[in-house]
Amino acid sequence: MGDRFEGKVALITGAGSGIGRAVTLRLLDEGASVLAVDVDAAGLEDTAGFGALAHGDGELATAIADLSDPDACVTAVHTAVGRFGRLDVLGNVAGILVAAHATDVTREQYRKLMAINLDAPFFLSQAAIPHLLQSEGNIVNIASNAGLQGVPYVVAYCMSKGGVVQLTRALATEYLKTPLRVNAIAPAGTRTNIAATAAFPADLDAELAGRMVGHRGMTEPEEVAALFAYLASDEARSVTGAIYTIDNGLTAS
Ligand code: NAD
Repeated sequence: MGDRFEGKVALITGAGSGIGRAVTLRLLDEGASVLAVDVDAAGLEDTAGFGALAHGDGELATAIADLSDPDACVTAVHTAVGRFGRLDVLGNVAGILVAAHATDVTREQYRKLMAINLDAPFFLSQAAIPHLLQSEGNIVNIASNAGLQGVPYVVAYCMSKGGVVQLTRALATEYLKTPLRVNAIAPAGTRTNIAATAAFPADLDAELAGRMVGHRGMTEPEEVAALFAYLASDEARSVTGAIYTIDNGLTAS
C-alpha cells in the first residue's frame, strides 16, 4: 500500500461498518491518522480491532456520536482537530435506508433519514471547511445511484442522496478559487449491512424493484474505499465537483 496520506488527518463517519470501515482502514494503511465516528459503539470497536493491524504510521481514534444531531457534527470536527491538530479529509459516509411504499413512510422515519443522510454532511462540512481551507484538504461524500436516478420504494433515500449530489456540486463551486476540493462517490449495490436493516414491502413490484439491482453483481466496500482514497489524495488535485459512479454500469444503462 502507498503512503499518500502520511501526516494527514481524516474524519470518517459511518466508520463502524461497511464502506466507512473500509475507507478508515484504507486511509490508515496509507499513513493517515483517522477519527472514526459512528453511533454504533460495537461496530467502532471492531473497526479499531482491524485498524490495529493497519500498516501506516498514523493513529486511529474513535468517537461515538449520533450525527443526526447538528451539535454532534460540530463536536466531531472539534474532536478530530483537538486530537490530531489538523484536518485534511472529511469523509461523509454514514447513512441509513428506509424502504417502504412512499405513502407509508412516517414523518419520524423521513426526518431521521434526512438528518443522517443529508443534514449531517452539511453540518459536518460547515464545521470542517475552515480547517480544510487551512490544510488545502478535501471532502468526499458518499452519495448513491439513488441520487442520480429514481428508485422505487426508497423515495426519502433518493431525495437525500440527490441532495448530497447537489451539496457536493454547490460547495465545490463556492470554493473553486481555493484549494479545497469537494467530490462524491455514487455506489450502487455494495456488500454491507445497510440493506439488511431495511425491510422492503412484501407486496413490492419485482420488476420495478429490479432497478436497484445491477447486472454484474455486488461491489465490495474495499472497491469504494480505493476510489475514495484516490479522490481524497493529491493525485486527484484537478478533480472537484465530480460525482464518480461505481455501480457496474447501472446508471449508464
Ligand atoms: P452500513 O449500514 O454498513 O454502514 C452505515 C454506518 O452508518 C453504520 O455503521 C451506522 O451505524 C452508521 N450510522 C447510521 N446512523 C448514524 C448516526 N445517526 N450517526 C452516526 N453514524 C450512523 O452501510 P454502508 O452501505 O456502508 O453505508 C455507507 C454509505 O454508503 C451510506 O451513506 C449509504 O447510503 C451509502 N451507499 C450504500 C450502498 C450499498 O449498497 N451498501 C449503495 C449506495 C450508497
